[in-house]
Amino acid sequence: MSENRQRRRVVIAGGGTAGWMMAAAIARTMGATVDLTLVESEAIGTIGVGESTIPPLVNFNRILGIAEPEFMRAAQATFKLGILFDNWKYDGDSYFHSFGLSGKDHWSAGFQHFWLRARAEGYPHSYDEYCLELVAGLQGKFAHLPEDRMNYAYHVDATLYGRFLRKLAEADGAKRVEGKIQTVELDGESGNIAALLLDGERRVEGDMFVDCTGFRGLLIDGALHAGFEDWGHWLPNDSAVALQSKHQGPPMPYTRAIAHDAGWQWRIPLQHRMGAGIVYSSRYLSRDAALDRLLSSLGEPLVEPIDIKFKGGVRRNQWVRNCVAVGLAGGFVEPLEATTVHLIQRAILRFIRLMPNGRVSERDAIEFNEQQRRDIEQIRDFVILHYKATERRDSPFWRHVAAMPIPDSLQQKIELFRETGRVFRKNEELFGENSWVQVMMGQGIEPQSWHPIAEKLSADELERFMEGLRESAARTAATLPDHQAYVARYCGAQAPQ
Ligand code: FAD
Repeated sequence: MSENRQRRRVVIAGGGTAGWMMAAAIARTMGATVDLTLVESEAIGTIGVGESTIPPLVNFNRILGIAEPEFMRAAQATFKLGILFDNWKYDGDSYFHSFGLSGKDHWSAGFQHFWLRARAEGYPHSYDEYCLELVAGLQGKFAHLPEDRMNYAYHVDATLYGRFLRKLAEADGAKRVEGKIQTVELDGESGNIAALLLDGERRVEGDMFVDCTGFRGLLIDGALHAGFEDWGHWLPNDSAVALQSKHQGPPMPYTRAIAHDAGWQWRIPLQHRMGAGIVYSSRYLSRDAALDRLLSSLGEPLVEPIDIKFKGGVRRNQWVRNCVAVGLAGGFVEPLEATTVHLIQRAILRFIRLMPNGRVSERDAIEFNEQQRRDIEQIRDFVILHYKATERRDSPFWRHVAAMPIPDSLQQKIELFRETGRVFRKNEELFGENSWVQVMMGQGIEPQSWHPIAEKLSADELERFMEGLRESAARTAATLPDHQAYVARYCGAQAPQ
């Protein structure tokens, strides 16, 4: 077969984070086997948020061969060790969901079982003190440690990150077409997408199309009518106002998620500025009140506020015929645990694994849809947990979420933990046992029991075991440099004004 006949034409519609991550990954991985085009419209622009990430992005960058300091410089990135949740269990309380492991597990039982027994015997130290990432994060410290002992992610400027990816993708052969998609042309016989018709009567033909047009879902829903499963009854927030502001202190290596009486606010520290915003339920808070609340807790904003409306939920199918929807076009769980860029990354790697060689196989589409759906449902459950398991009843919003029914899968997880202290990571779930434990305990779920293996140690042995782990986390954290200074040294960053 000639080289030309083998080259599949892949067309990406949309140049937000999803579109350019997809383009960079396909161009780097598939090289000249694919003829790659990305269509985007500067007039429409991108959503402009999506700045807090989770650790697998480090790996994505490694797959693309990206040099970390260069990427961090380009995206004005900082390191992230987790999220500090303020006012979630009750107004005035705080807890940290870190990317690290706490203490040391036994294969039969997680560390929480040992800690629960120790606490019952009067041991005074909090669960937080056994996790290096958590201890270092709260102290504003960071460094790379040998053997990836510090598990981290990034805060990135979404627009700059997009530009950086575009450069990579274009250098690897992706073509960019500027223009507004007016019509999606279907092939009358197969029902596949044949081409995108742009303003000026230009036509972009392809074999495979990737819908990265954001919430619009122009291809997957507009043309192929994939349908949408609305999760609004579990995820009541539907609105946000996003801003950029100056730093209020040194950029810390964590995102803040600060609950209020009808949602929450985010703070994402970058090198040069802070990303900030408020997420709320329009049923319980007006847009003006939300903006006032946001502004009153920040200094003068650096940009005009951006209003965003969204719906929690998922496309019934994210791969239909010869079209795959990635990013907001595929589905969205509100940004509380900063998981959407990760879902994009999962979809990209999955799509590359399932890249058709010739005709699209319906089996590939089924596989993709099943795997994508499992990912987003697991994340959905984890996010709902933050609303359901709280002592807050101080507003109609919090009373509503306390009373709402939750998915059976989450109910089982919560009750299992409450009764036994056990959590299981199933089906390659993104969030591991320790994430669930930190958040469940942080939100106020108290296990009533622990695994009997924790009784195997004598009181003295248990104390030595616990102290050894606690001191090790404290000792290592004490040796780490200040996060801001480390970032500046690592990528030649300017200190923020
Ligand atoms: P968009 O950025 O909307 O891009 C759509 C693209 O399609 C644009 O290039 C646009 O020009 C193009 N387009 C649309 N219509 C047409 C047309 N007719 N013709 C041509 N081009 C067209 N995720 C995280 O991981 N972490 C976070 O901290 C986080 N925070 C968030 C906060 C909020 C309030 C919201 C709503 C989302 C957040 N997300 C977060 C999600 C994150 O913003 C997105 O996953 C990410 O930005 C990817 O968006 P996208 O590329 O799918 O869509």
